[in-house]
Amino acid sequence: MPTLADLLEARTAPAAPTLVERIERNRIRCYACGHECPVPEGASGVCKVRFVHDGVLHVPWGYVGGLQCDPIEKKPFFHAHPGALAYSFGMLGCDLHCSYCQNWVTSQALRDPQAVSPPIEATPDALVADARRLGARVVVSTYNEPLITSEWAVAIFKQARDAGLMTGFVSNGNGTERVLQFVRPHIDLYKVDLKSFDDRHYRQLGGRIEPILFTIRRLHEMNVWVEIVTLLIPGFNDDRDELRRLTEFIASVSPDIPWHVTAFHKDYRMSDPENTTPEMLMSAAEIARDAGLRYVYAGNIPGRVGELENTRCHNCRVTLIERYGFSIRSYKITAAGTCPECRVAIPGRWGKQFDGQIASSPFLPGTRRLRVV
Ligand code: SF4
Repeated sequence: MPTLADLLEARTAPAAPTLVERIERNRIRCYACGHECPVPEGASGVCKVRFVHDGVLHVPWGYVGGLQCDPIEKKPFFHAHPGALAYSFGMLGCDLHCSYCQNWVTSQALRDPQAVSPPIEATPDALVADARRLGARVVVSTYNEPLITSEWAVAIFKQARDAGLMTGFVSNGNGTERVLQFVRPHIDLYKVDLKSFDDRHYRQLGGRIEPILFTIRRLHEMNVWVEIVTLLIPGFNDDRDELRRLTEFIASVSPDIPWHVTAFHKDYRMSDPENTTPEMLMSAAEIARDAGLRYVYAGNIPGRVGELENTRCHNCRVTLIERYGFSIRSYKITAAGTCPECRVAIPGRWGKQFDGQIASSPFLPGTRRLRVV
């Protein structure tokens, strides 16, 4: 019986030429993520899904490891077509190994024998047709780290754009100049998971902080719409000074970048810390506002974080979008993307008219109905 690694080895394509470089000792440098692995013949990179065979870097292609239509608020994007459905696909594997990962079945499929997630064959045409059939407004690469499967995402995004859909990454942000240049022409939205502001913490998770900070700066310069999320884990990244430095960094890139601080719940291998409380989220949000951020949100504990689920105008403070969890309760941004009271422009990607759902429980197509081949 073939192993998961065998199944994935049969579903590959050559890496994009701009994401590889031949280097000394017959190795190939991969630039799809900040590890920039020098991969020798017969070996794979840290992510385990990109490997060299017969002098070619093979990369994941032709399958999805997870597929679902979600509210865009779940990604979370709060300043991009609120209420829209985001057709979300993932592949398998990750370049980090976070012990608290909430998508471990797909992200750690090749490292953890308990993470069983067989690939489903798919084509870009079929995925985009499915997204349209289900009424999605956005196609998002998520669930595992999309940077390490950028070639496949770009193939799908080209079709999605041609069909009038927006595109996005939900990513750990461990990027390189080359991979950001590669995806830039095809991507509208980018969520970065900024896990900490301490390089020692990033090293525990298998990465470094510098490529993540670089990615945030570069995406903003490239005019990609960026939102940032930090899962607040008691005892790991909730130190007030660390949160102050983290939010000051975001504000230094732009005070208009939305920051989502979300609640940890015991998951995967990290079961020691207590769950995050609403008070902890509200305290972190206060630090962010003091740092100069204009749009700060608290997530994962609906109805218990006061105003921190809603969008308020940064100028006149009128409430523009009311939310409960992933549901939109009201929407008042104008067709020009401005505040209806003071007419100031609200940063984000807004439709000419609200085309999402206002409902206490949004319609979500079930995965069983998805057809992808
Ligand atoms: S995607 Fe990252 S981890 Fe994987 S081979 Fe390339 S540089 Fe290494």
